[in-house]
Amino acid sequence: MITVTSILKLRSLLTSYRQEGKTIGLVPTMGFLHEGHMSLVDEARRVSSVVVMSIFVNPLQFAAGEDLETYPRDLLRDEMMARDRGVNILFIPDVTEMYPSQIKTTIYVSKVTSQLCGASRPGHFDGVATVVSKLFHIVQPDTAFFGQKDAQQVAVIQQMVDDLNIPVKIVPCPIVREADGLAMSSRNVYLSEEERKQAVILSQSLYNAQQGIKDGQSPQQIRERLIMEISSQSLANIDYVEILSYPALEIIEQFSSNRWIIAVAVRFGKTRLIDNVIGGGEEKTYVSHHDESQNTPSYSY
Ligand code: AMP
Repeated sequence: MITVTSILKLRSLLTSYRQEGKTIGLVPTMGFLHEGHMSLVDEARRVSSVVVMSIFVNPLQFAAGEDLETYPRDLLRDEMMARDRGVNILFIPDVTEMYPSQIKTTIYVSKVTSQLCGASRPGHFDGVATVVSKLFHIVQPDTAFFGQKDAQQVAVIQQMVDDLNIPVKIVPCPIVREADGLAMSSRNVYLSEEERKQAVILSQSLYNAQQGIKDGQSPQQIRERLIMEISSQSLANIDYVEILSYPALEIIEQFSSNRWIIAVAVRFGKTRLIDNVIGGGEEKTYVSHHDESQNTPSYSY
């Protein structure tokens, strides 16, 4: 694995790989790696000849008063994990490399950013779309891998890619969970022992919601029950519990043959956790296969 901090160096490395006909997969992260990130690397390795992972805690996507300064970091451990898992290039730019001067261009994606985390964290997705767009321009990947844990992020990035004709294939990957169901997150380390215990209510209540849908309950009934179950935990403070269409993220009155998302954001003390389930409709599952002879990734839906 080669660790690179400079955009220029990364570009020249990737140019030579591209000239050899190699395909490039990008896994963008903010580091403090866990199995959720690693699952994206596994998928990237399956379909790309070169896997680039970026680690960059992007100041642009944190609002004042959020956890930019305290965001967990452990670069040495991250480097070891990335190397062990088969990342080929680890890109770790510092803030001045990514933003040498005050940025005057940002990307704003409308509609799919007006609810859920977009509503709770104004400006967050402008920061995300802008940095991901920069990474796409720097790396020029054939394929980029994102976790469905951040389902709204996937919707925003896909919208940006479609609207701006960015030549990259976006691959959403399933949520990786701890043994008790808690969705893995770098922020889970913030949780106290008691908060960690109570945080299991997110995945548990989402699981119950899925059962409720099977039993024919309406979005309103499901939402009320979710709110009741999550509120039963003394340390839980609900930010939102929403049931929307996916990926358009519009309000739905009933579950139909179209895709839906049940998304929750809950604070435990100073830690804000998110989780979701997506279902309904034609689930867009994909079978990926790497054609060694062509060196091209291909996805069939
Ligand atoms: P982050 O470092 O938190 O910005 O996450 C980097 C990428 O990893 C994003 O695409 C996330 O959606 C993805 N990711 C984070 N946690 C998980 C998880 N538990 N399961 C699957 N993907 C995840």
